[in-house]
Amino acid sequence: MSAIALGIHGGCGVMPREEMDEAGWAAARVDLARALRAGWGVLRGGGSAVSAVEAAVMVMEDSPHFNAGRGAALNIDGEPMLDAAIMDGATLAAGAVSAVGRTRNPVRLARALMDAGESVMLTGPAADRFAETHGLPVVDPDWFITDRQRAALARMKARRAAGATATEAEKHGTVGAVALDADGHLAAATSTGGFTNKPAGRVGDSPIIGAGTYARDGACAASGTGAGEFFIRHVVGHEIASRMRYLGEDVATAASRIVFEDLAPYRIGAGLVAIDGAGCVVTPYNTAGMFRGWITAEGRMHVATHDEVFVVEA
Ligand code: ASP
Repeated sequence: MSAIALGIHGGCGVMPREEMDEAGWAAARVDLARALRAGWGVLRGGGSAVSAVEAAVMVMEDSPHFNAGRGAALNIDGEPMLDAAIMDGATLAAGAVSAVGRTRNPVRLARALMDAGESVMLTGPAADRFAETHGLPVVDPDWFITDRQRAALARMKARRAAGATATEAEKHGTVGAVALDADGHLAAATSTGGFTNKPAGRVGDSPIIGAGTYARDGACAASGTGAGEFFIRHVVGHEIASRMRYLGEDVATAASRIVFEDLAPYRIGAGLVAIDGAGCVVTPYNTAGMFRGWITAEGRMHVATHDEVFVVEA
């Protein structure tokens, strides 16, 4: 029996404290804790790391506080276009979906695709149809749209019309989870709406296996958040695993190297959660904040948005 452990993120970014009142930040932390409990319940019951990351991500997809599922960022046409992926570190099986517009929980769709075993990636309306034919809940696209994201899109368009562009670090969000189960297996899952005002048809790093989502037993599981184009170019998840496998680096060193050195020259917002085979969870980020949380083998649960880390009842 291996130790069990779980880590999550709900996206990195500028996250100005004045954007929400203290009750708003506290509500986001409550949902982080709910996501952790969902995944932890699976692991404690002897469930797989894959099921744990799926359960944790689903809670964050359903929460309006994060840029995934309900509350996802809207693209230039005002549409939610969702990306998600899941990967099993034991088998390297993976499922990924992009530009989904009607599937309530894109991570469940990614899981169903992985379990079906034929394709690794589906995109657009065909991916939504796969969800329907596999009995997963589908919703009207309006279900994903919140007032907060409508306002964010309007602000972004107004700024663009005025000739100002958002910095990379202002646009972020995504949710993700990594886990180690009692059988010693690792898994990762990620789900996102991308970024506000993104081009129609744009696909980010989250559903790209090896970039925003990666898991490999014997190395690590990782889920990223930040400017996806750079995560794709640096194949971030796979790079962390490779540094661990080929250079013998520990997960903290390998993950920090990517976030604080390799991605630094681009001045982009970047963060991630990663876990190794011993259950060590790391959450490096280079922005003002990152929604995040983790539970270690002793069952102690931590959640945070900015620097301060809160220990809460598991
Ligand atoms: N990585 C996500 C994407 O590029 C967005 C984010 O995490 O901010 O789609």
